[in-house]
Amino acid sequence: MANQWRGVLREYADRLDITEKTPIITLGEGGTPLIRAAALEARTGAKVWVKFEGMNPTGSFKDRGMTMAVSKAVEHGAKAVICASTGNTSASAAAYATHAGITAAVLVPEGKIAMGKLAQAIAHGAELLQVQGNFDDCLDIARDLAANYPVHLVNSVNPDRIEGQKTAAFEVVEVLEDAPDFHIVPVGNAGNYTAYFRGYSEELARGESTKLPRMFGFQAEGSAPIVLGHVVKSPETIASAIRIGNPASWKLATAARETSDGYFGAISDAKILEAHRILSSEVGIFVEPASAISVAGLLERSDAGIIPKGATVVLTVTGHGLKDPQWALRTPDGSDIKPTIVPADTTEIADVLGLRSV
Ligand SMILES: *Cc1c(COP(=O)(O)O)cnc(C)c1O
Repeated sequence: MANQWRGVLREYADRLDITEKTPIITLGEGGTPLIRAAALEARTGAKVWVKFEGMNPTGSFKDRGMTMAVSKAVEHGAKAVICASTGNTSASAAAYATHAGITAAVLVPEGKIAMGKLAQAIAHGAELLQVQGNFDDCLDIARDLAANYPVHLVNSVNPDRIEGQKTAAFEVVEVLEDAPDFHIVPVGNAGNYTAYFRGYSEELARGESTKLPRMFGFQAEGSAPIVLGHVVKSPETIASAIRIGNPASWKLATAARETSDGYFGAISDAKILEAHRILSSEVGIFVEPASAISVAGLLERSDAGIIPKGATVVLTVTGHGLKDPQWALRTPDGSDIKPTIVPADTTEIADVLGLRSV
């Protein structure tokens, strides 16, 4: 068993509320790569690192919180967990519940979740219900059910989720040997924004870092309640993972922004897709649209003159591109990209590739 990353609960056991009595329900989450992005450095003059959370077991950062939430639920005797989800929470809850031998019920907005995520929840045996409503409706119902029936809520309103997720900040500080100057994340329910802030605050308190990063969070323009300062009744964006009109961790995130001299901004869907292309075609990292908003946010803040040359910036990209791959197969003006079809002939293929024989 030597030399294997053991998942965030074991790796950070001393910094989480777990005891010998806590069953460790893990799929090996965490320990994700922090990748230097030369193409983004060339565009901004900053030192840019990308924390690739798509490399978690179910393909999103949700696994860090889910290992904690499901482990604690099982410790407390839960036989079933429930969550509302825009997709990734359901995929993660389903995987961790099935690993623990308990059931997961997931409520998703009808027709609004990416196919890869739907397939994951079903593959892992979740009781998946498509609700005729939006995410915010699903969360209200999930909270009601957990309050009145024997099911354990594993949305990020469950404090165990944010506790598990803070470990991503620990990993960043370990690699950089300090906190970055800026940390940028996509914002939906704002749980992850809150979790990074908490992780960095703990690192500072332990003397592992010398500063708090300025926490920058981005919402999609059609779904930007925190930026607007009011609930958005019918949030709309192609970035389905952050299509949230009434963020559960709104108050905590606002406090984190104030303490860290942070910022919340809104980004158009067109800019999200442009950033998605830059990340996949220039850096080599494939993410789902919501994740690309971190890159769009960096470019926007850099253009606005807010990111000094040489500053260290960490971008969290939250979910893997294979969950929702359709966006890669379209040109910026929305037409389909179709790979060229060729005969099985070396000379003709060399011709199409523009190669000359040597
Ligand atoms: C859940 C999720 C988000 C939003 O995180 P919050 O904690 O809700 O702000 C962003 N991107 C992806 C891919 C997600 O799954």
